[in-house]
Parts: sequence; C-alpha cells; structure tokens
Amino acid sequence: MRRANLSAIVRELHARGPLSRSDLVTRTGLTRSAIRGLIGELVLGGLVTEERAARLGTPGRPSPLVRVSPDGAVVLAIEIEVESLAVAIAGLGGRILESERVDRPREHVAFEDTISDIAALVATVRARRPADDPLVGVGVAVVGVVRRSDGFVSMAPNLGWRDVPLGDRLARALDLRVPISVANEADLGALAELRRGAARGHDDVIFLSGEVGVGGGLIVDGKPLKGAAGYAGEVGHMTVDPGGAPCRCGSVGCWETQVGGGMLLELAGQSRDSGRPGIEAVLRDAADGSAAALSALDHVGRWLGVGLASLVNMLDPRLVVLGGLFGRIHQYVIGPLTNELDLRALPASRALVEVVPASLGADASLLGASELAFEPLLADPAAWLASRGAVRELVSA
Ligand SMILES: [Zn+2]
Repeated sequence: MRRANLSAIVRELHARGPLSRSDLVTRTGLTRSAIRGLIGELVLGGLVTEERAARLGTPGRPSPLVRVSPDGAVVLAIEIEVESLAVAIAGLGGRILESERVDRPREHVAFEDTISDIAALVATVRARRPADDPLVGVGVAVVGVVRRSDGFVSMAPNLGWRDVPLGDRLARALDLRVPISVANEADLGALAELRRGAARGHDDVIFLSGEVGVGGGLIVDGKPLKGAAGYAGEVGHMTVDPGGAPCRCGSVGCWETQVGGGMLLELAGQSRDSGRPGIEAVLRDAADGSAAALSALDHVGRWLGVGLASLVNMLDPRLVVLGGLFGRIHQYVIGPLTNELDLRALPASRALVEVVPASLGADASLLGASELAFEPLLADPAAWLASRGAVRELVSA
C-alpha cells in the first residue's frame, strides 16, 4: 500500500511539476493526512521539497507547494545515433542537468569503438557533477531493433551491428552498479513527446524520427506499442516500393530508402555520406530557394505522405509527431505530405489526424532515455528511500 502510494505521488510530481498538497489529494485520491505522512518521508529521503505557497485569496490555510528535488535522484541518459553520440545527466522532474553531444564520422560506428567512446563521454559529463551524485539508473536510446528485457540489439542496419549485447557490454564498461535499460531511439522519442512534448494529453500517436534511417514510436491507447519482444514500430522497413532500392536491412524498397537522410542528400546534390553538414547545406539551400534542394524536400514529403497514409489507416491516430530530421524539415514537407495523406488515407481516419513537428527538438530521445532510466525509482520509491536510510546509517556510524 505505502509502496504504491509513494509511487503515485512521485510520479505525479515528476510528470507535472510542483503541486500543492490539495492537488495531490485530488490527483491520487489519498487522504490529506496520508499525503502529509508520505511527503514527510520523501522530504527526509531527499526526493522532494516543500515550501509555503502564496495565499491565493481563498479562505483557509494555504496548501504548501511540493516539488521534486532535481538533485535528489539523477539518471544517466545515453543516445547512440549513426552520426552522433550524446550523454546527459537528468534530474528527477526531467530536467537535463549536464549534457554533451559529439558528432562522429560514419566509419567510426563499430560496436567496440562506440562502447569506448560512450565510456569516455560518460566520464566527461559525470566529472561535472558531485562525486556523490545519487545515480539511480541508466537509459540508452539506440537506432536499432532492441530486445527490451536485456538490451540485446538484434539489428542496427545503419550502424552495421547485428546481434550485439549492448546492455551487458555497457554495464561492464561503465561499472556503475545501477540498472541499465535499452530501447529503440524512436520509441523513446515518442515516450518523451508523450510525457513532456507535443503529444502530451494524447492517447493515439505516431512518432516518426528521421536521421540516416527512419524510426517509429507508436502510442496506442496511451501505451507504447512494444510487440512480443519489444521490436514493434520498425516502420522505416515497411515496403513502399517493391521494385525500389536495396535497404541496409537486406530488403528492397523500404520506406527509409525513399525518405531517409541519404535520399534527401543525394537528390539535393550532396554526397549521401555528408551527414549533418550535408543536411545543414540542404537546409541553407532550401532557405535560399534552390530548386534542387526544394525538389528533394518535396520528394521526401510526398513519400512521407505515402507511408503515413497506410499507418494512419492501420492505427487511426490523432497525432503524427515528426521528430529528428523530419521535425527540422517540417515546413518544407508538410505540403506534399498533406496532399498524399488526403489522397490515400481513408477519409474517416484522415479527418481526425494532425501532423505536427516534435517540440523537444534534438533532445527528445535523450529525454526519453532518462524517463526509461527513472522507471524503477518511479515504480518503487520506497526501495530507494530504504537504501538511502542504509547509507545514512553507515555515514553516521
Ligand atoms: Zn529496410
């Protein structure tokens, strides 16, 4: 009982920000005196603080405002993309306290290189924080097909990885003695947009993330669609063109061969492998009115609409959130995308769906990784409080 009640309170404060005790009574259904006792425990454990609220002209005593302590528990969030690596330390409440993102050359994506690059980046970022930082977990977002139970990556076509034990290998390399959870980067982008971004308040959402490849995070009935082993949502490998170009996954004519970064770069007259600098050049050219850049963006927009029409028919979402590269080119692709959607999606489903850019920008997946890493603490703050109690006793002995 106490375990579940503590969890309900910390989840509310983590997701919504500061709340008064009265808000917590309303939101959790707990009694005022139960809330007072549990808040007292959380304050002692350093997870929340309480302050006097201003009197708002209502009769009676003002209800104190309760908020999470961002430093009370922190997580490490890691993002592995083809062209960049990022590491952040996020505090309870979802604020990023420290972060670092590095670009890397395409030829430097081998599994062991990636592990040592991440270990170095983690050391850099952790060095900026106090040595006794209360780290509770690690969350990892990777552009690959991930088994949720142990962070095993069965395939990451654009990294050239196949069957690698990412979760286990990172646990050994980082040696942090806290749980490590690994998930697909688009799934985590979707989770972050759902909790803190453009999809907040929506139950049926398609999150599309573009980089070199295309990832999808699907929210159905308010819950992430995982599939039997956690592999669901690999929309980038949906066949849209049976006679099309070969895909890195081994199939032919996958959606990402038409809308991925490589196609955009090639059509806009850049090298397929020019990465972020190439994309920046395309965006500059488009802003200057370059016909090649605009026509390349139009191509991506049309094919985005073609694939999305099938997904909209299948899932009947209210919202499509365009993240990563697709978020950045939203203004250029929304026209042709809308035309294809109007043409191909069933009118009943089409009428209800809106296509918007992601609101968390480049950090969406990193924020999603931190949400994943906080999950064990949010599910059972009592266990954390007990372990802190043990630490205090050791220190005072
Ligand atoms: Zn494919």
